[in-house]
Amino acid sequence: MKAGLVSLIGAGPGDPELITLRGLRALREADVVVYDRLAAPELLSRARPDARLIDAGKSAGDHAMPQEEITALLVREGADGRRVARLKGGDPFLFGRGGEEMAALAGAGVRFEVIPGVTAASGAAAYCGLPLTVRGVSSAVTLVTGHEDPAKGRPDVDWSALAKTGGTLVIYMGMGRIGEIASALIGGGLPPETPAAVVRRAATPEQETLQAPLSGIAESVRERGLGPPAIIIVGEVARSEPGHAWYEALPLFGRRIVVTRSRAQASSLVEGLRRLGARALELPTIEISPPEDPSALDAALHGLEGYDYVLFTSTNTVDALGKRLVELSLDSRSFRDARICAIGEATASALLTLGLRADVVPEEYTAEGLLAALAEEKMEGRRALLPRARDAREVLPEGLRARGATVDVVEAYRTVRPEALDGDAREAIKSLVGGTADLVTFTSSSTASNLADILGDERLGGARGVSAAAIGPVTAKTAREIGFDVAVEPATHTIPALIESISDYFLRQGAASPAAGREAKA
Ligand code: SAH
Repeated sequence: MKAGLVSLIGAGPGDPELITLRGLRALREADVVVYDRLAAPELLSRARPDARLIDAGKSAGDHAMPQEEITALLVREGADGRRVARLKGGDPFLFGRGGEEMAALAGAGVRFEVIPGVTAASGAAAYCGLPLTVRGVSSAVTLVTGHEDPAKGRPDVDWSALAKTGGTLVIYMGMGRIGEIASALIGGGLPPETPAAVVRRAATPEQETLQAPLSGIAESVRERGLGPPAIIIVGEVARSEPGHAWYEALPLFGRRIVVTRSRAQASSLVEGLRRLGARALELPTIEISPPEDPSALDAALHGLEGYDYVLFTSTNTVDALGKRLVELSLDSRSFRDARICAIGEATASALLTLGLRADVVPEEYTAEGLLAALAEEKMEGRRALLPRARDAREVLPEGLRARGATVDVVEAYRTVRPEALDGDAREAIKSLVGGTADLVTFTSSSTASNLADILGDERLGGARGVSAAAIGPVTAKTAREIGFDVAVEPATHTIPALIESISDYFLRQGAASPAAGREAKA
């Protein structure tokens, strides 16, 4: 039997990119993932597709799974020889009951490891631009739970002692008692005007911050209606400085953007949008699968030496061909002297991973652009291979045939509608149909037409109110035909250019996110 291993992983405070490399590796290798509500849900897509995902989520007052049950589950799965990723918000050893889980695993003789994470205090401090220590201002930090009742007989937390540390206090789980905590600290000697900050959902696009003197913080929290999860930072460092709140100043901060694409392809777009502060909701509308009958593709790959040109019109084609070459025990030497054409720079760099350098990359990344790039070349009597998806446009083969070339079009992959939609996808649909999304992105015509199929006419009506971004003119045309208002269309048809155009679009729109406002009121 395989030896089991339970990894207690600190997933960080919200931004999925804040997990450590070691944590990510353990997550990728896991057979079973047991996750908390505070761990970033986006991380789950990094687990193996066949991994079992178990929601042990708990938030105050709503215990999805009692701690004893979680601990027993970890012990059982580890003892059965499985690799278990126990994904915990923040750091597993700070108010995370990681100690109890470790003790149970050690007691049962189950192999375990503990992988630290960015705790909420560090995450909030960084994403708000409030350093926890400052030379000459604050030389100590205390992390403390506010869960204890300060008025109870023998509290574990001595607030009046904490009032005398002279350093920064970071209070976890304190929102329910913020008034009592503030009074206890002031009673212990902290000046009422001591700066305090509350940071809710730090390091996420929903991050909210509030700053007030300690004496007024509870009242401000009540007025703003701020609830958990939030941390309270008390001390001189909580005074905000203009220009330090870099995260909330990002161009896409708080914007809800639905990304329609296949899950496998979405990552660079989603990550780029998130890095600019957006809440990217993934809605996979296409899935890439091999052709039902690969015989035409196989024949073309076996006969590659007979082609003068091989035309790649997407990274999907490159991936599909690369995979099939290996399955046929061939490799890129089969391309011999064929001129390799890539429709755009992403396709060209995908080709490099096969060891192929594109000879032709057009200025404009469309079929028409590629035809124009080949305008000077003699096509008469030449043979070209165009591997692609089944229902693609005829512009390229027709254009080349008109100039005397023989063009073999073979199906390299199929785009199909994914069968099941996960929770993230359902949320994306809800925000589209309900109009709480700020934008929807389309990166090919099929992402738009499949979305229309998935939604159906009735729900599509609501979704049409959401502005759209399209990667290029053909995609934009399809999106407009479906009824979307295409507000963003980059001049260069690449993912980085799309991200930049989206960012420019929202900068033009001004600071407030209308959709976020609608949601807050809902
Ligand atoms: N192990 C976690 C803490 C879990 S206790 C860590 O190291 O961060 C849960 C408390 O952590 C919440 O009540 C809240 O006070 C704080 N917290 C967790 N994630 C947070 C976030 N993204 N923003 C603000 N506070 C957070």
